[in-house]
Amino acid sequence: MGINEIDLHASLKKYFGFSQFKGLQENVVKNIVQGKNTFVIMPTGGGKSLCYQLPALMQEGTAIVVSPLIALMKNQVDAIRDVSSEIGVAHVLNSSLTKTEIKQVKSDVSSGVTKLLYVAPESLTKEEYVDFLQGETISFVAVDEAHCISEWGHDFRPEYRNLKSIVGRLGDNIPLIALTATATPKVQEDIIKNLGITDAKVFKASFNRPNLYYEVRPKTQNVDSDIIRFIKQNLGKSGIIYCLSRKRVEELAQVLQVNGVSAVPYHAGLDGKTRSRHQDMFLMEDVDVVVATIAFGMGIDKPDVRFVIHHDIPKSIESYYQETGRAGRDGGEGHCLAFYSYKDVEKLEKFMSGKPVAEQEIGNALLQEIVGYAETSMSRRKFILHYFGEEFDEINGDGADMDDNTRNPKEKQEAKDDVVK
Ligand code: ADP
Ligand code: MG
Repeated sequence: MGINEIDLHASLKKYFGFSQFKGLQENVVKNIVQGKNTFVIMPTGGGKSLCYQLPALMQEGTAIVVSPLIALMKNQVDAIRDVSSEIGVAHVLNSSLTKTEIKQVKSDVSSGVTKLLYVAPESLTKEEYVDFLQGETISFVAVDEAHCISEWGHDFRPEYRNLKSIVGRLGDNIPLIALTATATPKVQEDIIKNLGITDAKVFKASFNRPNLYYEVRPKTQNVDSDIIRFIKQNLGKSGIIYCLSRKRVEELAQVLQVNGVSAVPYHAGLDGKTRSRHQDMFLMEDVDVVVATIAFGMGIDKPDVRFVIHHDIPKSIESYYQETGRAGRDGGEGHCLAFYSYKDVEKLEKFMSGKPVAEQEIGNALLQEIVGYAETSMSRRKFILHYFGEEFDEINGDGADMDDNTRNPKEKQEAKDDVVK
């Protein structure tokens, strides 16, 4: 491969305007341009997209990027158009395109203009697209949000299970790049197994987010007033409030509005137009706060979200980490506040009771971990990182005092009890 370090930096500058790689990016890019299978595990905001975008722009042919959400893909394509000096190098192929648009995309791929082709996994299974792509030069296939392949991930999508066989049909030895922000060993095993990339070189970054402050408060009947008070103490700052149900999202958004907080609701029950309007209002800072179900956030890249509040406890530590990870992406302050009541855990358990047994077992195991997080008296950062298989030094580690338990240790007696144990 005739790509050296000078080329890499020149291309980084040319296409993205950056003078330096972030974290492990350079090594990942080098591995990919050598045509090797690659597994990238980096937290949200770590810069995973560039890991495959840059090699795609530098190499012959078209890179296929599998991504679960249309909104996410559009976001990414727009971003690459913004940063890249080349116009039209990235395209989306999905069911929302017209026949004419599909024809255009196909001709751009064939002529070599398209360097990145974003597809939803269900589109990739379509015979029509497989037939077409079989005749094209594919530089590699990047599977973004690769945790979707695992039932132990927070967003299992069965279509992801077909990827390996489809990629096999597109050509011989097409390199596979898997990317995820889910750090649990179980999910990683699943990804490697399902994509058949046991030979992949694994690049795993630290999941520590030293600028995020973690706090858990008991959830009482006054939770709405607690939230309002918090927001009033953080006036003008951008924040996300996650609720479990759509109904609660609507109610809370209204309560906030009545109390003079500029807030909009966001959930999958709203029509598409309203949803994207509310999302844009938040991104453009026409409102400070978005009250949302977990439908909000994937692929949202607002760097200065200053707080993420969980009105209800999420279903797993991974979800919590993902959702809070949307705070402080710019490295600035990010307050992660979760309201916790055991009643909510019981609600979540009941929620799951209708599901298949295997799913219930996984769900309950994950739920017990987040209960552990909510109830622990140790460093919350240490707790989270331990869950991801990472050691954290709670005395000298980066961000060591950035949680409620460390700043205000619980009763001395409790601490003593822990030592005796
Ligand atoms: P992830 O997919 O890992 O969550 P993204 O790929 O969305 O992260 O990147 C997060 C942010 O980091 C983006 O705003 C991106 O422009 C920025 N970024 C990526 N690489 C670099 C770099 N080398 N220098 C500066 N900013 C970068
Ligand atoms: Mg990403």
